[in-house]
Amino acid sequence: MKITYIAHSGFLVELAHTLFLFDYYQGEIPALPPEKPLYVFASHRHPDHFNPEIFGLARDRENSFFVLSHDIWRSRVPEELRERTAHLKAGTRWQRDGVEADTLRSTDEGVAFLVRAEGKAFYHAGDLNDWRWDGESENWNRGMAEKFRRYIEPLREVDLDAAFVPLDPRQEEHYALGLDYFLTLADYRDPKRGAKKIFPMHCWDEYGIIDRWLSEHPDFPGRERIVKINVRGESFTL
Ligand SMILES: [Zn+2]
Repeated sequence: MKITYIAHSGFLVELAHTLFLFDYYQGEIPALPPEKPLYVFASHRHPDHFNPEIFGLARDRENSFFVLSHDIWRSRVPEELRERTAHLKAGTRWQRDGVEADTLRSTDEGVAFLVRAEGKAFYHAGDLNDWRWDGESENWNRGMAEKFRRYIEPLREVDLDAAFVPLDPRQEEHYALGLDYFLTLADYRDPKRGAKKIFPMHCWDEYGIIDRWLSEHPDFPGRERIVKINVRGESFTL
């Protein structure tokens, strides 16, 4: 399994027989082996998660499919691709040719994805995160934390090969809330439990936020599963 970080929340996951592209909005997409079916996911319509350029990937390949959150306008999908496109609400399961995607509700727009294929499982959060902001009221922030914990609950005790989880420097001292909670959803002292690798994302190209998390969590269970991303285009073989 090979994972390429493209930009922001955009990743390419390459399995032996299948390709998955998540939340592409800009950056360079690596060469896509034409024989492998390509599943293009977009968690919601915000411009840092969805770029209609993704539909151009279908130009020369019939084996491409689009799995979009329900909030992405159907009119944005080129007509000839509509039968290869699914618009998923939260809490639904979509299946095609051995690929299974479950959706979780997001605390922002759209959905998060739990995907299973070829015996692998991975999670892409989209904007499902504990978005605590200093500018919001305590009431709002408390509601946010409560919703986040409820919406992410389907991941409890789920073993994953990879997880893509927001770590956003704009939240300042609250940047780690979502990731810290994610790491309590399984017993991370047991190397067989939880996510094997966790890719921080939504970092706005400020990868020092990952170093900050590592230095502020010296003994946190699961710490060694955090992947240090340094630059757009970086690849990781798991
Ligand atoms: Zn976003």
